[in-house]
Amino acid sequence: GSLTAAEAEGDERAVEAALRPKTLAEVVGQHRVREQLGLVLEAARGRGRVPDHVLLSGPPGLGKTTLAMIIAHEMTAPLRLTSGPAITHAGDLAAILSGMNDGDVLFVDEIHRMSRPAEEMLYMAMEDFRVDVVIGKGPGATAIPLEIPPFTLVGATTRAGLLPGPLRDRFGFTARLEFYDAADLDLIVHRSAGLLGVELTEDGAAEIASRSRGTPRIANRLLRRVRDYAQVKADGVVTHDVARRGLELYEVDELGLDRLDRAVIECLCRHFGGGPVGISTLAVAVGEERETVEEVAEPFLVRLGFLARTPRGRVATAAAWRHLGLDAPPQPAD
Ligand code: ADP
Repeated sequence: GSLTAAEAEGDERAVEAALRPKTLAEVVGQHRVREQLGLVLEAARGRGRVPDHVLLSGPPGLGKTTLAMIIAHEMTAPLRLTSGPAITHAGDLAAILSGMNDGDVLFVDEIHRMSRPAEEMLYMAMEDFRVDVVIGKGPGATAIPLEIPPFTLVGATTRAGLLPGPLRDRFGFTARLEFYDAADLDLIVHRSAGLLGVELTEDGAAEIASRSRGTPRIANRLLRRVRDYAQVKADGVVTHDVARRGLELYEVDELGLDRLDRAVIECLCRHFGGGPVGISTLAVAVGEERETVEEVAEPFLVRLGFLARTPRGRVATAAAWRHLGLDAPPQPAD
């Protein structure tokens, strides 16, 4: 089928797309978000209007793009995809908006990274379905109003707190996606294995699920790597033992920590005595961008209870020291 062809080309993106749930009913977990969003869409359909603008926030790989696609699918509307960094000028946004049709869904990934002038144009487009296109510069500049057909904006961001208040306020529905629990990830691994034609045992699936960092994208990726391992080093079946050995090879530990997660806590404990240390300093020390440490590694470490954000900086918890097999320094007496 098409999956095998996509994989033969080594096209991981195509595989990822094939594993995406297409409808709300197919989405695993996120029960509250599913129910709330389902209601928003059903009500809009009933009124024959476009749904309110939707803001989705949460760490990468939790299903923001998937939900945007589902919104368009459930509204039987075309989806247009763009991203904050792609919109460097207000003109870029004007070009996108002027090409929209009634009821279109516009997905803007990383919406917090849009340029300020584009952001201001977006406020007006979201609220009044029109924009002012400015022609010329300086005192001679004129604003030409441009009507836009009603549309639904779906914005995605790794952290809603990064959005300016006026932009956040213009979304009628905001959903925060949370990390998935092991039971949900288990369902996702089984579902994906079915779609990919991978044979796996219950405890094989559970092993992958429990090391997936609470993240569906990672669950799917680990499944594919373990499937490779099973094919080359075993008889193709993903058993518990095969999963363990495969995941070890790919440096994913029992808790699902990857290389970056481990680098962050190792650095925090070994170089900074467990903190507190500022996020920028910590990022430089692990050789990563601040955003990556803050938006990718940190949320999971916080959720595991390995790292705490304090006003004075990031602090490693006793559990983090234990995980590294180190003795935590004595608690300061205060
Ligand atoms: P994001 O946009 O938040 O980075 P995506 O929507 O691209 O994440 O999701 C990454 C992958 O994880 C998708 O290919 C999809 O297969 C899978 N996925 C995400 N959320 C779910 C879910 N709730 N149920 C099943 N699979 C999911």
